[in-house]
Amino acid sequence: MHIEQDLKLDFKDVLIRPKRSTLTSRSEVDISRDYTFHHSKRSYHGIPIIAANMDVTGTFAMADALARQQLGVALHKHYSEEELVSYFKALPAGQTTFYSMGITHRDYDKFRRVKERVGEAISLVCVDVANGYTKVFVDFLHKLREAFPDVTIMAGNVVTGEMTEELIIGGVDIVKVGIGPGSVCTTRKMTGVGYPQLSAVIECADAAHGLGGLICADGGCTTPGDIAKAFGGGADFIMLGGMLAGHDECNGEVVEIDGAKKMRFYGMSSRTAMEKYAGGVAEYRASEGKEVLLDYRGPVEATLQDLLGGVRSACTYVGARKLKELSKRTTFIRVSQQLNEIFG
Ligand code: 5GP
Repeated sequence: MHIEQDLKLDFKDVLIRPKRSTLTSRSEVDISRDYTFHHSKRSYHGIPIIAANMDVTGTFAMADALARQQLGVALHKHYSEEELVSYFKALPAGQTTFYSMGITHRDYDKFRRVKERVGEAISLVCVDVANGYTKVFVDFLHKLREAFPDVTIMAGNVVTGEMTEELIIGGVDIVKVGIGPGSVCTTRKMTGVGYPQLSAVIECADAAHGLGGLICADGGCTTPGDIAKAFGGGADFIMLGGMLAGHDECNGEVVEIDGAKKMRFYGMSSRTAMEKYAGGVAEYRASEGKEVLLDYRGPVEATLQDLLGGVRSACTYVGARKLKELSKRTTFIRVSQQLNEIFG
């Protein structure tokens, strides 16, 4: 039995140390980034925050709302071929919308057909499995890379440096990082498997950057401060589910419970999702996600203001004029308490 003794950290375990700076206002901070992807060689410009490809948040409406602020979306994979074709055909150039898929033959064939019909309009693809450590996953990515050399591939999820390296060498441009941190994820409870998200981000970013690749920190951000910490830890992109749920742009109706407006949100491996898309939870599987009722929050626009304001402010506290400088200027301090919870 081997036990790793290094302490691994979550967002809640650290704060960012303030640094002297000459910045006078957060309006001076530029939180967009420019990247050239390692394999596809395509270039990217935008604010590198992406709505998760969950069927509540990865919607066309969310994609349009986030694009107005230069953010992106990974669409959920349950749209029909026709819906996807008409969406991508009308997609303005430069918008960060990922086509999402799993790794079954059906997923691959559907992608091929849609891609054939829309051509260049799909340039970003997100390949998503709960466990990115399997051989079938890696084989699938090789096949995809060979068939589509100039498509930007984001794939995961993994949480360790060696697997990040394997994926990047195998053709992935952006490795998606996170096992178990999600707001509606129960993987850690059901399986005991996981990795504290901030350490996963730091270690995987380091591994990816050494090979010219990028990472996307996926899951576990609960506040704008967590987003700043993920960027500070080296994340190139950040994927958000729960923080973007509960809005008008989500897929799901508003229900009234005891006079309060609520919206449903559920994990993609929850019983709810499996019943909706797979006719129930298969006998050999356990559900690894849950369903929650969130307060209805109106249009996503106001939430975005808050979220981007927080990240800009974090940059001013450490003197980062550009988001790119944030990780270089970040020193984390370990804390035993990060918030004053007296008023809840
Ligand atoms: P959040 O931002 O809500 O904390 O995390 C979103 C991420 O949680 C998603 O992008 C995805 O990686 C993960 N996720 C979504 N649904 C499930 C689920 O049912 N089970 C697990 N284990 N993870 C999920």
